[in-house]
Amino acid sequence: MSVLRVDGLSVRYGGVTALSDVSLTLDEGQLLTILGANGAGKTSMLRGIGGLESAGGSVQLRGTELGGSGAAQRARAGIGHVLEGRHVFPDLTVNENLHLGSLLSKEPRGGIDSALELLPELREMADRKAGRLSGGQQQMLAIARALSGTPDVLLLDEPSNGLAPILVQRTIEVIRAVTSMGVAVLLVEQRLEIAQALNSDVLILQRGSVVGKANGTEEDLEERIHAAYLA
Ligand code: ATP
Repeated sequence: MSVLRVDGLSVRYGGVTALSDVSLTLDEGQLLTILGANGAGKTSMLRGIGGLESAGGSVQLRGTELGGSGAAQRARAGIGHVLEGRHVFPDLTVNENLHLGSLLSKEPRGGIDSALELLPELREMADRKAGRLSGGQQQMLAIARALSGTPDVLLLDEPSNGLAPILVQRTIEVIRAVTSMGVAVLLVEQRLEIAQALNSDVLILQRGSVVGKANGTEEDLEERIHAAYLA
């Protein structure tokens, strides 16, 4: 059985349809990257799955329907969500941020331990206020906080955005390690190179609809993505 199954997901903002009839499945440890231009509906897809926007269609986690439940309930059920722009608690320390994330888990201590094993660089910042960290460090903390909740699925919204190349590289390593732990990852990106570096399966979104599926290694992918971005 798939860890995550999404069927016919649609998100509307008033009269605007941001996402229309999107379906996908994710198995344990599988990575799927959603690529698309600005406004294609990538963030709306993650928000619809994470319960931050009300959405039509079905979202199932290990066979349990989550449609109708809110973001907090979905987070406790096993959907970790790292929003675009990090959103760590700036006045709390790194440790306190991780502790809050771990409250979503049935094994909070284990959640923090495995997050720190994956991101050991956070150990030396444990007592620093999150708002004092660099953008890249905050991104790592946001991922670690989500992992502290021991999710089955991690939704990652443009984690590489605005990061220096060395931190983009680190983000790629971390995503690889997360999938090796068996966590399924749904990654939103604007940059094809990230999907290629991760050898990821790809869904191409255009104006709220899936217009293509591919693997990051396919040779003509770049042309297909450009066509979708420019359409
Ligand atoms: P970006 O890469 O710029 O973040 P995106 O692919 O994530 O873009 P969304 O942010 O999901 O796209 O936006 C999809 C569509 O929905 C766009 O037309 C956008 O203007 C619209 N939209 C997004 N959020 C809202 C909102 N809160 N209210 C109204 N319309 C919205």
